[in-house]
Amino acid sequence: MPELPEVEVTRRSLVGMAGARVLAMQMGKPLRWPLGVAPASLVGLTAGTWQRRGKYLWLPLMQSDSPQDRAAPSPPPAGDGETWGGPALPRDGASAGGLLWHLGMSGSLSFTEAPGPAGKHDHAEITTERGVLRLTDPRRFGAVVWSPALDMAPAAKLLAGLGVEPFDTTFGPADFHAALRGRRTPIKQVLLAGDIVVGAGNIYASDALFEAGIDPRTPAARIGPLRAGRLLAAVRQVLAEAIDAGGSTLRDFKDAHGSTGQYQGRARVYGRAGEACSRCGGIIQRIMQGQRATYFCAGCQRR
Ligand SMILES: [Zn+2]
Repeated sequence: MPELPEVEVTRRSLVGMAGARVLAMQMGKPLRWPLGVAPASLVGLTAGTWQRRGKYLWLPLMQSDSPQDRAAPSPPPAGDGETWGGPALPRDGASAGGLLWHLGMSGSLSFTEAPGPAGKHDHAEITTERGVLRLTDPRRFGAVVWSPALDMAPAAKLLAGLGVEPFDTTFGPADFHAALRGRRTPIKQVLLAGDIVVGAGNIYASDALFEAGIDPRTPAARIGPLRAGRLLAAVRQVLAEAIDAGGSTLRDFKDAHGSTGQYQGRARVYGRAGEACSRCGGIIQRIMQGQRATYFCAGCQRR
């Protein structure tokens, strides 16, 4: 399933859409949640700069200027597009609202000039002056939801409970260590839950724990301040590498221009059961934790 790096790669591949006016929107089969607005009511709005929070993408939509004004440069986008720290969209009257997207288990977004007719797995489509944005999602656990703002329902409700962004520099090792205290759950599952730090999905949690030398079965509360700091750094390193590699393509992930990710080929332990550990030469093991596969090296990773 698309994890934070794949969603971030998708966001970066959609930058060319900013400033494009919506000409039409069409929905296919029902997705995880209803759109919450008549698709036709989005016609005439202008796309802002895509943002990401956790595995959600936000496409702000602005009221289009009058025809004369449209030649003028558009106002600066809300936030820098990397992350945002809390409510970021100025509700200055220009912002009509936006669309919150989730790729679910199998979703991907494409943005192309002439995409051809929609296929049976294409369930949302926005035609703009510059190209067609299309959500392809065979399993339909993905969604696109209209919200008047990020900090208002329904967006705010969907984003509630997410942990901090992994690259949020205001969150340090001491904060991470404090958050792990009192959690008896194995650290791998605490990372996956994403309520402390978002982004360490199954591939990246296994690899980050290997990088930090921590056994995935270790109760989170048993991780001291030093190891917590190492783990936070490892989560950041692994996610940054994955974004640089275009994400991971295990089944069918592609960015908005059809490029696949390459991280899975560089994974440290994920998907490598039975292979030799790159560090100690021991055999990488696969165990199940909470119905998810975990990969680790018993020689390098300590409780
Ligand atoms: Zn090893």
